[in-house]
Amino acid sequence: MRYFLTTAIDYVNSRPHLGTAYEKITADVIARYHRLKGDDTWFLMGNDEHSQNVFKRAQEQGKDPLAYCDEMEQTFRDTWRGLNVSFDDFIRTTDRRRHFPAVQALAQACLDNGDIYEGFYEGHYCVGCEEFKPEKDLVDGLCPIHKTTPEWIKEKNWFFRLSKYQRPLLDLYAAQPSFIEPETRRNEILRLVEGGLDDISMSRAGQSWGVPLPFDATSVVYVWFDALINYAAAVGYGWDQARFQSQWPADLHIVGKDITRFHCVFWPAMLMSARQPLPRQVFGHGWVFFKGERMSKSLGNIVDPLDAAKRFGPDPLRLYLTKEVPYGADGDFTWERFEEKYNADLANNLGNLVNRVASMTERYRQGRLPASPPRGSTLPSVAESALTTYREAMDRHALHEAVAAAFRLVSATNEFVATSQPWALAKDPSRDADLTGVLYDAAEAVRIAAVLLQPVMPDSAAEILRRMGDPAPAEARRLSDAAWRSGDARQISNTGALWPRIDDKGAPTVSETPTPNPEPASPPAPAAPAASTAAPLTAVAAASDDGQIAIDDFMKVELRTAKILAAERLPKSKKLLKLSVDAGEPSPRTILAGIAESYEPEAIVGRSIVIVANLKPREMMGTVSQGMVLAASTDGGPAMLVNPDPAPPGTRVR
Ligand SMILES: [Zn+2]
Repeated sequence: MRYFLTTAIDYVNSRPHLGTAYEKITADVIARYHRLKGDDTWFLMGNDEHSQNVFKRAQEQGKDPLAYCDEMEQTFRDTWRGLNVSFDDFIRTTDRRRHFPAVQALAQACLDNGDIYEGFYEGHYCVGCEEFKPEKDLVDGLCPIHKTTPEWIKEKNWFFRLSKYQRPLLDLYAAQPSFIEPETRRNEILRLVEGGLDDISMSRAGQSWGVPLPFDATSVVYVWFDALINYAAAVGYGWDQARFQSQWPADLHIVGKDITRFHCVFWPAMLMSARQPLPRQVFGHGWVFFKGERMSKSLGNIVDPLDAAKRFGPDPLRLYLTKEVPYGADGDFTWERFEEKYNADLANNLGNLVNRVASMTERYRQGRLPASPPRGSTLPSVAESALTTYREAMDRHALHEAVAAAFRLVSATNEFVATSQPWALAKDPSRDADLTGVLYDAAEAVRIAAVLLQPVMPDSAAEILRRMGDPAPAEARRLSDAAWRSGDARQISNTGALWPRIDDKGAPTVSETPTPNPEPASPPAPAAPAASTAAPLTAVAAASDDGQIAIDDFMKVELRTAKILAAERLPKSKKLLKLSVDAGEPSPRTILAGIAESYEPEAIVGRSIVIVANLKPREMMGTVSQGMVLAASTDGGPAMLVNPDPAPPGTRVR
């Protein structure tokens, strides 16, 4: 099967940061998964260069814009290479051989089909977004993303008749429900299109940095219209019709949630107008924050993905971003959590397992395992169900679930080794065959886990497979190789620890500029009693020197069960949800909980929770919070609500 996937192309006015890298890494996981399935995969990436920001940046540096873009192309390619991103093609919008003819052909086709007309545009324009901003989208007159005052622009523009495509787009979404993923993005887009579409400007007057309009030499094609066409341009549209027909349409566009609208509304409408086939699917992923903040130059909290990759190599970073962020939702990166997960998943779990299997096989069997018929252990069935779950999750882009399935097999194998006690079997000559069988099964389970992890951790998987005696090159390996085998002898190699444990909390390798907290009224995370919310507890509980408290002290904290009746986001807060809870009292309580990054409000209505009922009411963000919700969280990690078994609201917890 043929599989053509793309990522968004990036503005080159600054270096890629971890948020940009997140998209490329997850797309690479999908591309490598399709290669593992044996699909004829084509993975396209590229740079978006016709932005006024790029032009300005080049001018600031006293460089010719094209020369500047050439340099940035190297920077981007070096970054992607450093992260093991295996793109097959890289297109730039300044590519005169491929991109210019495609953009001009598509603009001309839309004009010929009556969908482009001349008019005047007047409005707010954010240069940061390269986008006209409707009045209603501004917050206190500022762009909500860039916090800058947009320019007021009035100019002659060519317009694309987007309004005409409202019905055809709604028909498309209805006929092809998987066109937009995940569900949350689909609902956003549906609401947007159902609300009606305005025609949109598709040209900018009096500029030279861009693709000239074929029918008006005084204007260039507006950067977003220009950029979207890269996907078709790369595979021949406007310059190699035969190639275009063999490779188009794209099977999957992977884009950030902020530009889903361009890809699910504008792009299919443009293609409908030009009478070209539509892409099959758009996946809008979430954002990766740094300590809960969106990474941005102005906030000074950019994490360079190469710095993160330098910490332990690219694979642990790829694993973290794939496994710890539910694909489609937002996630968070902190150096502490990254190290914590490295230790837990790699040093202690997978790395430890590889090491144990290899060193015991060396010690007891000189590294040589003969073919071993199934011995009735549960591992083959655990491996089989891991493969089934993995495949099903990957096919619907639940990358985090797929990786979790592979790690369940790793954990099960560690348990299997612990309970089978090969070191005890080795002392009993009558159990020789059992020892071989245990080592063989463990090595086979590790081999299968490595096949499943190959798309996520390509280098590490190759190394583990080599150690487990399966040295075939990655390109030759298929998902069917993740089936249990017992008929071949194995040469296991023991070559030292893959991932040494990190014990010291050393200084991060990247400076973490303190950033102004945009939520000054934000309380010390009411949902995370572990860290900063210790305050109310210590206030009542006089801790002894060893940090222990007496039972009387604990009993001063009145914990009660409650039921969530309603939940909503606070407009100005990323972290807080405003809950209305039934705590068994005559009227519901209002509690603000710092769980907005972990839960959608609709999803938790009806849930049973535990609250601190006698916490002094506190005013936060203009609302009085009457208590605190208990949730578990690791530093910087998502909050996980504490769920009691069913008990009437107001039941004392002790
Ligand atoms: Zn903006």
